[in-house]
Amino acid sequence: DPICVEEIVEDAMRLVRTRAESAGLSLVLDFVDLPDVEADHRAVKQILLNLLSNAVKFTEQGAIMVHVRGTANGLTLRVVDTGCGIPPEHLPRLARPFEQVEQELTRANAGTGLGLALTKSLTEMHGGKLSIQSEVGKGTTFTVVLDLGLAREEDSHVSSTDLNGAFRGSILVVEDNLVNQKLVAALLHKNGYTAVITQSGTEALAALEQQEFCLVLMDVQMPM
Ligand code: ADP
Repeated sequence: DPICVEEIVEDAMRLVRTRAESAGLSLVLDFVDLPDVEADHRAVKQILLNLLSNAVKFTEQGAIMVHVRGTANGLTLRVVDTGCGIPPEHLPRLARPFEQVEQELTRANAGTGLGLALTKSLTEMHGGKLSIQSEVGKGTTFTVVLDLGLAREEDSHVSSTDLNGAFRGSILVVEDNLVNQKLVAALLHKNGYTAVITQSGTEALAALEQQEFCLVLMDVQMPM
């Protein structure tokens, strides 16, 4: 069904407004002539919400701006912040799909969680591309280009098939962000998995004592 982009953007912004304002940050929306497009309402909102939550989390002062433009094939969404920025050497490692979170873990390098990986997967499931530009001390811009003309039904099944049936048993998810918890649970259920969601390292260890899991998905930077 066609979705109203403006409504989704405003919805996502409403969810972070209180946090932004209590941190003294202004939240600005800039859009021009948004078309009603064919896209998954929940996915587009989730993408924006993840990027906005990070922008609020990693910006000490200044503003967070959301630019939205309709394009010939779809939509460009841009979340710009005046935050701490990301060192260039970290950029290539961010937003890896979550199969590789474990690899990150073994390297014991903090700083890469599930949020961006999910944002990237969601974007790609919708025929889109996520790119990052960042300068330390100046800020970060996340750009999502959704090529909705190319987002066919089959595309959204590609990554599902990869995951489907790859493991047997329950999956333990350790994630402190409520939004991401829901998203991971939904993705796993959709692929026929039983997921046990925990919020912290302590809870995860308790869950591991109770039952066996075939896989643990966890964030690298987490509360104990
Ligand atoms: P998490 O925030 O749970 O660690 P994410 O995947 O959402 O996981 O983000 C990974 C890392 O990328 C963050 O820990 C942070 O270092 C960096 N990051 C993400 N968004 C921003 C941003 N807007 N500004 C600065 N750093 C960011």
